[in-house]
Amino acid sequence: MTMAEEGVLVFSEDEEITLQLLGKGRELADKLDAELSALSVGEGVENSDTYVEHGADKVYVADNPGLSDFAVEPYGSVLLEAVRRASPEIILIGATKRGKELAPRFAAALDTGCMTECISLDVDDERRLIAERLTYGGSSIATEVSHKKPHMATVPPRVFKKPEPKKRTGEVVEISSDIPSPRVVVIERRKKSGGNLGLEEAPIIVSAGRGFRERGDLQLLEELADVLGAKIGCTRPVAADSGWLDEWIGLSGRKVRPRLYIACGVSGTVQHAAGIRDAKIIVSVNRDESANIFQLSDYGVVADLYQFLPALTKALKQKLG
Ligand SMILES: Cc1cc2nc3c(=O)[nH]c(=O)nc-3n(C[C@H](O)[C@H](O)[C@H](O)COP(=O)(O)OP(=O)(O)OC[C@H]3O[C@@H](n4cnc5c(N)ncnc54)[C@H](O)[C@@H]3O)c2cc1C
Repeated sequence: MTMAEEGVLVFSEDEEITLQLLGKGRELADKLDAELSALSVGEGVENSDTYVEHGADKVYVADNPGLSDFAVEPYGSVLLEAVRRASPEIILIGATKRGKELAPRFAAALDTGCMTECISLDVDDERRLIAERLTYGGSSIATEVSHKKPHMATVPPRVFKKPEPKKRTGEVVEISSDIPSPRVVVIERRKKSGGNLGLEEAPIIVSAGRGFRERGDLQLLEELADVLGAKIGCTRPVAADSGWLDEWIGLSGRKVRPRLYIACGVSGTVQHAAGIRDAKIIVSVNRDESANIFQLSDYGVVADLYQFLPALTKALKQKLG
């Protein structure tokens, strides 16, 4: 990069995450007294006004049929072109699956570092980017400082709040560089089936651990979920080993932040805890009073889930009608 790096550039292929990054990006750009840019990529993209309303001073738009689907080479080349034009000192990328594929390659191409999955960001007096990241399976928080420009960071969904839109003006810059062909060609797409999808947005989650003996027993949890209007989550063995549900919660799974999380037959390992640390209220049901989940819980019930869940569901049905 050249010496004249200034400002903040944000990118995610997901509009909602871009808006969240714009909120934090605006704060950092104001502290640096610099410009905030966003990159919008795809075919028929129409979000530049939205990005300006949410804080962008400039929106780089790459609108091209070759960008209708995400592929790392074309998206990477467009991002590189945006960085060449904006010459930012900070680049924030959404830590989606795609963002995680793009960011490290892109950092290598720029010969810089990348702080991944940051949960807080700030700048210091020397305009360096400071990030907090979870370490040791979410049991501690590391503070890191980026020493090389452009400073790069990836940010998971919903870490930062989307700002309120305001009437603002901004500049739209078209990017029409050559788009390289992707090296991987997608030959088929299949929609994921219902299952326990949508966990990340769910306000209430009831969750199954290995305390459930059989797949059919999950009905106890489904009945509770019905009464509470909750989504069903689980630990990794329940999904990955037993195949009872599609997705699990935790370090290697989904990170959730419901208002209420009810863990049933879950031991509370550090890997599972990493996915529920942002839950507002954690209630756990476990027959082992020394189970670690009780250390993480606001309310703990020492009971056999096979007796407790039907009783809880019945009581809630009576109470909630
Ligand atoms: C690299 C790596 C990444 C991982 N990532 C994740 C992750 O993202 N998410 C995740 O969840 N795990 C993850 N794991 C697995 C993790 O280490 C644990 O194996 C897992 O979290 C344990 O799941 P569990 O609580 O369902 O099972 P267990 O640890 O076996 O606990 C079952 C609990 O149920 C209780 N119980 C049994 N019967 C009853 C009953 N009738 N009534 C009430 N309670 C009962 C027991 O007392 C026990 O506490 C990962 C592991 C590795 C190595």
